Amino acid sequence: MPVGGRKQAPSAVELEEATVTSTISGRSWELPGMWNRMFEPRVLRDYGSGGFELISALPGGESLEWCYGCGKCVPVCPVDLVGEYGPRKLHRKVQTGTDLVGDPDLWMCTTCGNCLRVCPKQVDMIQIVPAVREAAIGRGQVPPELQDVFEKSFRYGNCLGENPRRRHAWTKGAGVPVRVLPSDPRPVDVLLYVEDYWSYHPRGQQAAQAFARVLDALGVDWAILGPEEKTIGDSQRLAGEKGLFEALMEDVVATLGKYEFNRIVIPDPHGFNALVKEYPARGHTYDVAHYTQFLAPLVDELAWDRELDLTVTFHDPCYLGRHNGEYDAPRRLIEAIPGVRLVEMGRCRENGYCCGGGGGGMWLDSFTGNHTSERLSERRVREAAATGADALVVCCPYEVSRFEDAAKSTGNEHLKVRDIVELIDEAMGGAGRHGA
Ligand code: SF4
Ligand code: SF4
Repeated sequence: MPVGGRKQAPSAVELEEATVTSTISGRSWELPGMWNRMFEPRVLRDYGSGGFELISALPGGESLEWCYGCGKCVPVCPVDLVGEYGPRKLHRKVQTGTDLVGDPDLWMCTTCGNCLRVCPKQVDMIQIVPAVREAAIGRGQVPPELQDVFEKSFRYGNCLGENPRRRHAWTKGAGVPVRVLPSDPRPVDVLLYVEDYWSYHPRGQQAAQAFARVLDALGVDWAILGPEEKTIGDSQRLAGEKGLFEALMEDVVATLGKYEFNRIVIPDPHGFNALVKEYPARGHTYDVAHYTQFLAPLVDELAWDRELDLTVTFHDPCYLGRHNGEYDAPRRLIEAIPGVRLVEMGRCRENGYCCGGGGGGMWLDSFTGNHTSERLSERRVREAAATGADALVVCCPYEVSRFEDAAKSTGNEHLKVRDIVELIDEAMGGAGRHGA
């Protein structure tokens, strides 16, 4: 700081606590180091550059150092709205001596991508965070609930630890025939890659059954892999387990190679992201569509049976919207459903608010709950309820159960949570149409 035309020599003294005495009242009180730093500023040269050297040496970690502190990323970070976060803050922590590899902040990022959207220096948390997490896994510093998911994914081929033979148990309640390729390996047009939550979670199974009925009504030639399907594991990759992702990919590619199909349709934006970005980067390219992209061009062929009389708001999944640029297909479907009126939340499309499930966050709710004032899903549900909508509609299998829990915990039980395909199926007559 210039004083009398000369630079004042900074003091490197930084007390962990200090006693401050008021010059007016004469009273004294203790201040912790956090406040003390305001009185005894430390200069950056007092810290080493070891933190950045370590992170920049990790493939993918290089860009954290590029930050120049503009702060644009912090107000768009969903975690900062319920805590203290954002790339600028992480950059500062590393700059001032925090070992990010061993810090709880490493596990808070959902890789939602909103910071990268606004960052003028291309500080890329989608690369940095998985790279540093991989280093943490190498040190054995992984939240136990995440380690459990890694083990289940490796052992059973699904993050829920369910029996692979029960992968297609959901088909029994669909009310329409579902072809399972291992038992009927004839060539097929559409391979539905069901993924874990639509296969096993009770609310996901309801959406899978609804989609089966819609495909049947459209006369699509489609099939599933049943017991041969394994998770694509993109969230495990982003949570730091690149090795597990690549092992799963080898299995998935080998299974896909056994059958003849024209295109893959997938309900999970995370699996979709891997199939359109990570698989081609490793030499495996398929014709892939998210289920909303598959249905949107067919909207005029859907045979409606009833009007729903419902005001809804829509939550953009980060890995369909921001990461892959698809905002219109889900909206086209919602707006086509008879009697459904769409109202948007303030944070939507490119600036959509993350549900907290991405990048491994799906399995870290108890861990992150210790570091935030509320869950991201709870904040999002409050935003949805504030629109006055009757229902929050989604098109990511992670979200139905996350938002239903959040609706209960925030006292918004009146807010229904529905997958888009559940509403489509209902307006087409639903299970009753088939006597299921
Ligand atoms: S927007 Fe980018 S450059 Fe600006 S503070 Fe955030 S990370 Fe740093
Ligand atoms: S990717 Fe999302 S959660 Fe992670 S730091 Fe950026 S804005 Fe925050």
